[in-house]
This record gives sequence, structure tokens and C-alpha cells, in this order.
Amino acid sequence: MSPNPQAIRPGTPVARSDQKPAAIDSARLDAAIAWAEAAYHHCDVCAERCGVDRHAGPAGVCGLPAEGRIYKEYLHLGEERRFVPAHAIYLTGCNFRCAFCSDWDQVTAPLAHGVSVDPRALAARIAQRRSEGAVCVDFVGGLPDVNVLYILRTLAHCPPDTHVVWNTNLWTTEIAIDHLTGIVATWLVDLKFGNDECARKLSRSKDYWATLTRLLAHLEGRGEVLVRHLLMPGHLDCCTRPTLAWLESNAPWAAVNLMTGYAPYRLRGARTPMSGHIDSAEVRAATADFRARRIGDKLLDGQELAE
Ligand code: SF4
Repeated sequence: MSPNPQAIRPGTPVARSDQKPAAIDSARLDAAIAWAEAAYHHCDVCAERCGVDRHAGPAGVCGLPAEGRIYKEYLHLGEERRFVPAHAIYLTGCNFRCAFCSDWDQVTAPLAHGVSVDPRALAARIAQRRSEGAVCVDFVGGLPDVNVLYILRTLAHCPPDTHVVWNTNLWTTEIAIDHLTGIVATWLVDLKFGNDECARKLSRSKDYWATLTRLLAHLEGRGEVLVRHLLMPGHLDCCTRPTLAWLESNAPWAAVNLMTGYAPYRLRGARTPMSGHIDSAEVRAATADFRARRIGDKLLDGQELAE
């Protein structure tokens, strides 16, 4: 699918999820399942491109075989207001190792946590949560990208008007994005770091900035895009300001959520720069920077930001 040819000027409001999302394209879903099944034999479905056979068992960075494991699911009232209540489904495994990760154990030992759920049974739970009021199914973790085949197999048992939210660090590939186009209605992307050095130190990723900005640009026209940026202690100038500046200049079609509630549960008690909380002066400075930018669809801590 080609990118949206309609240019949107900075400051122009963009589509929101209260508009009816596109239906899941069943032909594209079949093709995506076939792609993921084949790709898992020499796995290259995310940016790590491990080349291992996941049908034979876990061997790559994510530590996952072909099947997924669920460690919690519920109606989530704390996501962006436009997705509430979301049916959040947490899958074990990730391709990052972020120092401040809130789900470290489920990420680093994915087979030791959660339970194996048949795709048909998970689809039944998605239908149940929808009947309880969920406006979307929000695949999170861990990470959906490293669980792509399991998710696609689940969606094969869901009705086509299921609103799929893909809650991702976007450490993926253009090919994966192409295959998920027409299936994912909302890309909920974490743009965490504003430079390669912070990304390397805090998540062990390499070539982060070029990879993330390239893949974010690739999302244009492929569904609704909402980019989250979490303000981190001491990273206002090196991460937050460059991230917001890039989004303002290069992704006017994306909504942006600046999050100021940094809470490093795993580092509690440690004496490191990342174990503390955000200074209120940093929050004020980041919020002022955000308000001043010509970004059309702004959210602050999940709430639409009034101009
Ligand atoms: S999904 Fe897992 S095995 Fe496949 S490339 Fe990514 S980290 Fe490696």
C-alpha cells in the first residue's frame, strides 16, 4: 500500500480513533499469516533479524518460539482517553531490554511467565471484553511485534470490525509493517530516545534513531498513528526536545502523547540516575516545549491537550 498522498501541514488536526476504524482485510490477514509462518523459519520479523527457526523452539533475542504466552489481560482504563476502555492483552517477550522496564521478568524470561492460550480461546476472550465495553483490543507486552504470528492467528477468529491497537517500540521492519497494514487500525508507538547514545545505554539497541525515524515515516497512511514519548529524568534536552522537534517537522499526521509519569518500579531503591522521579521543573519545561510546538493532535498524559 502506498503512503497517504495527501500532505498535512503541521498544526492540522488529524483523524482520531472515535472515527470508525477500517475493517480487518481478510485477504491481507491470510497473506500476513502465510508471511509470518514462513519468516519464523529464519526469523526476521523484527529489527533484530536473528535468523533462527522459531518453529523449532526459542533461540533469538526475544526468547520466544512460534506460540505466544499471555501474562495478563483486562479492561484498561489508563490508556489514552480515546482508547478507553481498551482490552489490553500482555504477551511475554521483547526485543529490547530497557533499564526502566516495568515488566522485566516477563520480558527476559518469557517462557517462565504467563500461560499458553489457544488463538481461538483468546479470540473468545476478546469478544467477551468487547461485550463488556472494550472499544479496541490493545496488544502490548512485552511486545506484539515479536508475537506477530500468534496475534495474526488470533485475529483470524475475530470479526473484521475488530479495532486492533498495536502497542509497539517499533523495533520492527518495513516488511512487517507492510503485512500489518489493513489489519492494524492504530499504531501506538513508543519513541523513547532522542539519540543513539541514550538508546544504547538504556535499551541496548544500536542505530536507534535512524531506524525509528525511518520506520515511523513508513507508517504514514497505514492507519492511525499515535506516538508516545515518556519524559525521563535528566533526558529533557537529549531525548525529549529532539523527539518532539522531529515529530513536529516530520510526522504531522501523527498524534503525540507526552507522558510525564515516569515510574521505574524495577529500579526502586537503586541509586542510579534512572531510579528517581521526574523533577517538577523538568515537567514544566517539557510541557511548555510541547505546548509551543505545531503538532496538530496533542495529548498530555493521555488527555487531549487544550490549546
Ligand atoms: S522476533 Fe525474536 S527471533 Fe525474530 S528477529 Fe525478532 S528478536 Fe529475533
